[in-house]
Amino acid sequence: MATNWTFQSLIDGQMTVTAHCHNPKCHHSQKLDLVALRDKFGPDAPAMEWDLRPKLSCRQCGNADPKLFGLTYVPDYHKMPRLPATNLYRKAKDGR
Ligand SMILES: [Zn+2]
Repeated sequence: MATNWTFQSLIDGQMTVTAHCHNPKCHHSQKLDLVALRDKFGPDAPAMEWDLRPKLSCRQCGNADPKLFGLTYVPDYHKMPRLPATNLYRKAKDGR
């Protein structure tokens, strides 16, 4: 059921992918540069978690074990169109 992301579809979907190092002494998290990855691996290269993990290495501790990474895929809300109606509604509700 999961969407089969490619680097291009992640960029088009304005997704932010963050890698989390699971080394217990590190816990570094690093936002992936999807444009650089697309240029390196190609726009149609698969970019699902299990595709990306073996490509990762932690800048902080040097961990390159695919089992010691987690990835989160979240829409980049800052790039999404604002929804003022929703915000006003929320404001009115909280102000009560
Ligand atoms: Zn690390």
